[in-house]
Amino acid sequence: MLGNFDFHCHSAVSDGLLPPAEVARRAAGNGVDLWALTDHDDLGGLPEAQAVAEAAGMGFVNGVEISIEWKGVPIHIVGLGFDREHPALTGGLAELRSGRIERAKRMGDALAAIGIPGVFEGAKRYAGNPSLISRAHFARYLVSIGIARDVPGVFQYYLTPGKPGYVDHRWATLEEAIGWIRLAGGVAVVAHPGRYKLSGAEMRRFLDDFKDLGGQGIEVTSGSHTPDHILHFARLARHYGFHASRGSDFHGPQESYVDLGRLPPLPEDLKPVWRLVG
Ligand code: AMP
Ligand code: MN
Ligand code: MN
Ligand code: MN
Repeated sequence: MLGNFDFHCHSAVSDGLLPPAEVARRAAGNGVDLWALTDHDDLGGLPEAQAVAEAAGMGFVNGVEISIEWKGVPIHIVGLGFDREHPALTGGLAELRSGRIERAKRMGDALAAIGIPGVFEGAKRYAGNPSLISRAHFARYLVSIGIARDVPGVFQYYLTPGKPGYVDHRWATLEEAIGWIRLAGGVAVVAHPGRYKLSGAEMRRFLDDFKDLGGQGIEVTSGSHTPDHILHFARLARHYGFHASRGSDFHGPQESYVDLGRLPPLPEDLKPVWRLVG
């Protein structure tokens, strides 16, 4: 039994604050023994992350967090243990990234329309990887110019559905994301299921679709889960026969509630997802 695996976190290649090497060193320092870097929609940090992880004596698994939309609801799918050169996956992700730049420009226009100009250019300066511009970069820039006190405050008043800086976007479909991951030999996992605005019945419909399309895992222990979420998604993991994952969703020392590797263990009877990829 592996003690401490963490299969969800971000570097500056997406919207994390630290370069991949520093995320790797921090994970190793926190006692993680098997680790995946899962940047949003980009595989660019994986070679550096793997080299530093292995030098630190930590096991490494390729990872990514893919942005999808299912029945109009934005959802994230983590891919683990794939071939990071596979053209189905690299090509699909390249297309997703080009959609992000278009969305970011429209977000800038929407904010200019309410009297906050120059936000696209400002947010771009916060993006370590210009092709992976995210709402998190917008939030950091808007805090820096005093629009809100902190990042959660910017999301609450400007960047969530119905708020002036939010623009609709067509992400990948569930079928595309699972297809790319599987073609590249990886395992698809539902990220932080406790965060989605789905009723109980909708969540079951989503998990039915996810399983039918070849999905195999679900995050049970997550930096964004309460103790009640852990019990609830452990039950769903058993019901669907999914493997269970554990991930901090660490973005940076100042922004994350849970540090790398500092999560409760998985409920003992669940099948840990590292068995499929470790
Ligand atoms: P995007 O992929 O551009 O839609 O940006 C989503 C990212 O913004 C997530 O991956 C989180 O890092 C961050 N985020 C989303 N909602 C919130 C929130 N309410 N408070 C703080 N950060 C958030
Ligand atoms: Mn993020
Ligand atoms: Mn996510
Ligand atoms: Mn994440």
